[in-house]
Amino acid sequence: MNNKKDLQDNDLLQEIDREKLFSEIQDNKMKDSDKGSFVAAIMENYFLDNDNINFLEDYGYGFWNFLEGENCICLSEKKFGDCCKPKLKKNDKIEYLSLVESLDSEENYKIYLKNLEPILSKVIEKNNKNSKCQFPDCKNLAVENNLFSDIDLDKNEFLSTAKKNIIDSKFTMGENFFNPLVSDIFNFYGLCAEHDTATSQNNLKIGINSTELEKALFNLRTVIYKKIKIEVTYYTLYEEFINNYLNVTKTGYQAMMVFKMRKIINSVKEIRDIFSNLFEAIKNNNLSAISFVDYDLKKQDNFQIRDLINFQVTPKSYTVINSVNNPLINEEMAVINVIQSKKSTFVSFMYLKKSEKIKKYFEEWSEINEEKAQNLEPWVTNNSLILSKTF
Ligand SMILES: [Zn+2]
Ligand SMILES: [Zn+2]
Repeated sequence: MNNKKDLQDNDLLQEIDREKLFSEIQDNKMKDSDKGSFVAAIMENYFLDNDNINFLEDYGYGFWNFLEGENCICLSEKKFGDCCKPKLKKNDKIEYLSLVESLDSEENYKIYLKNLEPILSKVIEKNNKNSKCQFPDCKNLAVENNLFSDIDLDKNEFLSTAKKNIIDSKFTMGENFFNPLVSDIFNFYGLCAEHDTATSQNNLKIGINSTELEKALFNLRTVIYKKIKIEVTYYTLYEEFINNYLNVTKTGYQAMMVFKMRKIINSVKEIRDIFSNLFEAIKNNNLSAISFVDYDLKKQDNFQIRDLINFQVTPKSYTVINSVNNPLINEEMAVINVIQSKKSTFVSFMYLKKSEKIKKYFEEWSEINEEKAQNLEPWVTNNSLILSKTF
């Protein structure tokens, strides 16, 4: 196995004689409980190698394909085999250019994006027209909002990795990842005029003395924005999958479509969970399910962040939070907001208390801080620029 060290580090595996285990898998004699422990251990890995993936496939996990009996990709209550599998379209005349296939040349990648354009614009339009305000107990229609309504982004000449086309997620090594920012990429339809104002920084003036409710309201705006972006990406990839999965002729490329679908489904589930918990918390004026971690830092004007953050491992024990290539485990995300005030830079994280791994992340981080004074500014910048999502 390639990642011998990772596996040896794992307590569960130390109890198992690995050589014996593998020969038993081959003989099909391994007890179910041993298999279960081994699967659990694989799920704790940051990076799965081919042996891990093959083991999961053998154990009945559809790593590269959707199984008949698993929850459907349309997020309904039904099983894939009964619901969306029969809807997959086959067109013998079309050989669909999948994302992975298109990556070999700039021209092909443009074709890939162009093919998706009609679906994407349909999804966006559907999302804009007649969208309801997502504030608790509000029945008004949403108006056009902007995540950074309090800042003149165009005037300030910020750079961003965010792209206008949210499906365009190709970042080529050696190229500049950052583009001059045009503020309308942060437009969304999620709040009515009244609640656009209620959740805005102009109204809330978030800083170190803000109450938890004020911070919750401000986070709701960021969460609604991210939820809409992730959902638009998901609906677009879902349509692509239904229309073209069977028209991709090479099995390997089909497998990558499945992988991508699994990843985006995980993101949708996580952001919806964060949203519904925050929604309920505000509605009931009870923030017991939510945690905030705040820092008031030295004033700087270099960056503005209102985003989700996918921590990878905890800083001390290196416990995996989100695996880089295992779409079979749930994602855990936090929300990060960095706000510039007159005197300081306020950094506020928000996460759900039930997200055990993120809780552990911040516990370990504060332990490290107590042991030796850390320079927080680079930490916040690095985390945000490298790890934040660019939906
Ligand atoms: Zn379905
Ligand atoms: Zn409203």
